[in-house]
Amino acid sequence: MFEDKLRQLDAQSLRRRLRPLGSATGPVVTIDGRPILLLASNDYLGLATHPRLTQAAIAATERYGAGAGAARLISGTLPPHEELETALAKFKGAEAALTFGSGYLANIGLIPALIESGGIIYADRLCHASLLDGCRLSGASFRVFRHRDVAHVRSLLAKRPARRPALIVTDGLFSMDGDLAPVPDLADAAEAFGATLYVDDAHGTGVMGAQGRGTLEHFELEARIPFHMGTFGKALGTGGAYVVGASTTIQYFVNKARSFLFATAPPPATAAATIAALEVVQSEPDRRTRLWENRDYLATGLARLGFRLGQSQSPILPVLIGEPTVALALAEQLFERGVYAPAIRPPTVPRGGSRLRVTVTSEHTRAQLDHALTAFQAAGHALRLI
Ligand SMILES: *Cc1c(COP(=O)(O)O)cnc(C)c1O
Repeated sequence: MFEDKLRQLDAQSLRRRLRPLGSATGPVVTIDGRPILLLASNDYLGLATHPRLTQAAIAATERYGAGAGAARLISGTLPPHEELETALAKFKGAEAALTFGSGYLANIGLIPALIESGGIIYADRLCHASLLDGCRLSGASFRVFRHRDVAHVRSLLAKRPARRPALIVTDGLFSMDGDLAPVPDLADAAEAFGATLYVDDAHGTGVMGAQGRGTLEHFELEARIPFHMGTFGKALGTGGAYVVGASTTIQYFVNKARSFLFATAPPPATAAATIAALEVVQSEPDRRTRLWENRDYLATGLARLGFRLGQSQSPILPVLIGEPTVALALAEQLFERGVYAPAIRPPTVPRGGSRLRVTVTSEHTRAQLDHALTAFQAAGHALRLI
């Protein structure tokens, strides 16, 4: 039975396979024994291999061991967990913070804590899968609004039966398209209709805003939006997730988010490395400068070659293709030329939306980006895409 299902996926060019790396992540990685230029990582600031983070992880492991031993509420709250929440709340200018083992866990725990059956969720069509799973788990009714279309959200909200609780769910920075949610207008709509706004800033954290505090800093909305979540596995280079907000809100989540209550605390090393990551984000702003310079260089180069990049406003550059077979062929051609940019196909993106998802980091050199552009040009010509 499983073989049949896999064959079906193969036939539709939708089968996925793991690509094991033979090295640490970075601008260049080893795949199948050879060096490959990586344009696929969310380690936007190169922090995953930053010596301050790895040293902090080693020191915390030596001091507190390899594992936390239990869920946080049982006996798993160690000094690095508390210190991380204090440091994060300070960085974000929030009263309090709570951390989770991953962004996926945060979303499937927080959303059901916020709304239950009887309520209605309004979610952007391109929301991350973990948000959709959180919505399903909540038992609330579910409506999808057109991507970034605030007028559509408003028209749906206007039709909602009186007094039904409402939650608007959106990515801050969309993970597959690299565009920003219209957060100021969504905040207005939420206020006008008495709804709660849930922003997932997984990709914005560390990247957006002059200080790297994320999409809400970018839009100057931090004082206005009462809570939001984000993750550590992308620009912060570690793993895990957070929600920040008022102390009572956070205490409520401590009591009600099941993925917090019933999951073992992350290893102390991860918490300690994340504290170091927050320090580096603040003390090495030049990483963000280089990230945006690299992003603009690659985006301009790809557009000049004739590739379509959609509405990207970030280091996520979707090279829009359409059919999954063609996206796969382009990825293969690039791989033969020493460049890895993954083909993203349904169900990660809507049908007809297959693409290469190119990401750039602060650590790519100009020479590496030129190599990437040369490979894109050759592969694009070989496939008659440009
Ligand atoms: C990556 C991502 C997540 C999941 O976070 P993990 O820490 O990887 O589990 C959630 N939401 C969005 C928008 C993401 O891009």
